[in-house]
Amino acid sequence: MEGTNARAMMLVEPRQFSPTELPASPGLNGGWLAVEATGISGADVQVWKGEAKDVVYPLIPGHEVVGRIARAGPTIPYPVGTRVVVEPRIHCGECHRCKLNLATCARRRPSNSYGFIPSIEPPGLWGGLAEFLYIDPAARLHQLTDDVPAEVGTFVHPLAAGHTWAVELPSLQEGENVLILGPGPRGLASLIAAKAAGAGWVGVAGLSHDRDRLELAKRLGADLAIDAEREDVGGAIAEAIGRRPDIVLDVTSDDPEALFTALDLVRSGGRVILASTKGNRAFHFISDVLVAKQLTIKGAMGATTVGYQWAARQIDTDPRIDDLVSHQFPLSEASRALQAAAGLLGREELISVAVTF
Ligand SMILES: [Zn+2]
Repeated sequence: MEGTNARAMMLVEPRQFSPTELPASPGLNGGWLAVEATGISGADVQVWKGEAKDVVYPLIPGHEVVGRIARAGPTIPYPVGTRVVVEPRIHCGECHRCKLNLATCARRRPSNSYGFIPSIEPPGLWGGLAEFLYIDPAARLHQLTDDVPAEVGTFVHPLAAGHTWAVELPSLQEGENVLILGPGPRGLASLIAAKAAGAGWVGVAGLSHDRDRLELAKRLGADLAIDAEREDVGGAIAEAIGRRPDIVLDVTSDDPEALFTALDLVRSGGRVILASTKGNRAFHFISDVLVAKQLTIKGAMGATTVGYQWAARQIDTDPRIDDLVSHQFPLSEASRALQAAAGLLGREELISVAVTF
């Protein structure tokens, strides 16, 4: 692929894509990935809207990437042609945060993560909305089956987060009860992961506009799928299982109320996983509930490598995941893809969105 140019959609400012071409230069230490599909997440929507913290434009968004290795430098563990997913977060392994095993490597600012690295950082192709993605020598790759369509393969990313948040971080034990607040792609992925790990009962709560996602949650095995705007979630759980959940996950989109719901509904001594940001807003918070209920709260950021290893296996054996990518767009319609993921084109039958090449 000597001297290849990559078509890319560059986000020059919030809500403003510009089609461009950048050289996928040979001679770098890493490698190049020929992108097959890129999922659009809630974090991408925040970048597109200009609501994400510390983002430097222009950049190429997209971090849920599936593709084939087009050029492999000495650090790439797979031969050319191998289909892989790339973990969004790059870990240099040497900075203080990497040494503490945190998700956020300090080597690049504002974030050493695909889809968030500014285009001024060479070689510029750091996002999935481009034909080629630069594989940093420190990027972590996971081989993916050829048996699923590329757009379905993008669901490895939410699935990995689901495993990290619902199983790994709360140390989910077999038979425990889990409540998931938010039926978006990562909420549904958390449901799949919790059930696969032997959770006893899993409930999913959403809003009225999430009706189709809640229906899908039932088909994916949720024991309760509830519209929190129309029904009392606590009452419904009491009726269903007669006690409070052991673990509550907040996977909502920018909903400060969800944290209070989580703290209120979880059992005493239970665990709350907070995987949703609240737009940097301040809100009134009474901490006594943490003391009185002896709660453990963990902040969750992204998926771990263990989560990716699980998800890459799971997607090969779970045909239900085919239903989870509901919308596809070509690269030239990146703006529409972002609008769709933001729910601006309607939420009927909206599960998750991918751009395909
Ligand atoms: Zn680092």
